[in-house]
Amino acid sequence: MLRTLLLTPGPLTTTDATRAALGHDWGSRDPAFVALTSRLRSRLAAIAHGEDTHDAVLLAGSGTFAVEAAIGTLVPRDGRLLVLANGAYGERMAAIAGQIGRACSVERWAETAPVDPGRVRAILREDASITDVAVVQCETTTGLLNPVEAVAGIVAEAGRRLLVDAMSGFGALPLDLRQIRASAVMASSNKCLEGVPGIGVVVAERSHLAACAGQSHSLSLDLHAQWRGFVANGQWRYTPPVQVAAALEAALDQLDAEGGPQARLARYRNNHAMLTAGMARLGYRTTLPAALQAPIIVTFDEPGAGFDFTRFYDALQAEGIVIYPGKLTQAPSFRIGCIGAIDGHDIARALDCIARITAQQAEPVGTN
Ligand SMILES: *Cc1c(COP(=O)(O)O)cnc(C)c1O
Repeated sequence: MLRTLLLTPGPLTTTDATRAALGHDWGSRDPAFVALTSRLRSRLAAIAHGEDTHDAVLLAGSGTFAVEAAIGTLVPRDGRLLVLANGAYGERMAAIAGQIGRACSVERWAETAPVDPGRVRAILREDASITDVAVVQCETTTGLLNPVEAVAGIVAEAGRRLLVDAMSGFGALPLDLRQIRASAVMASSNKCLEGVPGIGVVVAERSHLAACAGQSHSLSLDLHAQWRGFVANGQWRYTPPVQVAAALEAALDQLDAEGGPQARLARYRNNHAMLTAGMARLGYRTTLPAALQAPIIVTFDEPGAGFDFTRFYDALQAEGIVIYPGKLTQAPSFRIGCIGAIDGHDIARALDCIARITAQQAEPVGTN
């Protein structure tokens, strides 16, 4: 039987070895599970090269829980967050700040344009009330890659803190906390780490995290309190997703075996190159210029006349291939992911199905 391919921004296709690791029950206070948690925390911080300066704090929940915990814990109650937004995930950070009562300014770009570091510099010069800046590394709305290094340099130079939503690329796209200064990098157990969903990760700057006691709006999303807990006794404060944690460790073993984030990125780049070349042959155009597109998820313009996304989606779904609707507000589009435990054979299989379905859609309705 052919396995299901999740060509989406998550949850993603996982390996048999990762899912097999779910098949064991752990007690949350069991020394073996405490040790597993400790290994996960070190390995996740090391993926971002933050082992000397940062600590990984884990939370049960999806990626958004980690983003909400980071904003709520690390942005001072009397601070102001500047969100750099060119898509839905930037807007979500602004919505979180609004919901939890942190003052927030939003600087917006078109969904097809990268954040402009020069504009960030000007805003930080003008507005002394801004304490923290938030940016999305790969904006999953389109798959666009923002210039995080340049933004980080400007934010550091201006003496402000930076939060990086690295959710969609963590474990593959380069992100080096020795090169950029960030008070937090947010990630999750699925996406490029190729675990199963259920754990949000914040790799937080230790010196700042230590100064954030009592700052969180939330009891359960208080990163400082959870960090203190991990440091004190290695335990999660509330029921940990024990099987998900074990699956994440298995996934990290596979990341190492593959050759680390660089090798994983090379596999995704190959998926991406095959996908865009194959789709171009079938007449599908990418929404973004190649220079802005990260090899994470690709947005394609709907081809117009005769194309019916629902039929297209359902026909692919019937073949065990799941794609994603577009999230662009301007023009009709759809998205196909390049990440997860998939390789060129899987992309070839998907392209083969898409070719057949595209040919069927081109036939007038009612013919058989
Ligand atoms: C997936 C993702 C998130 C988190 O989404 P969840 O559905 O909560 O896991 C946040 N930011 C970006 C850029 C993402 O791709």
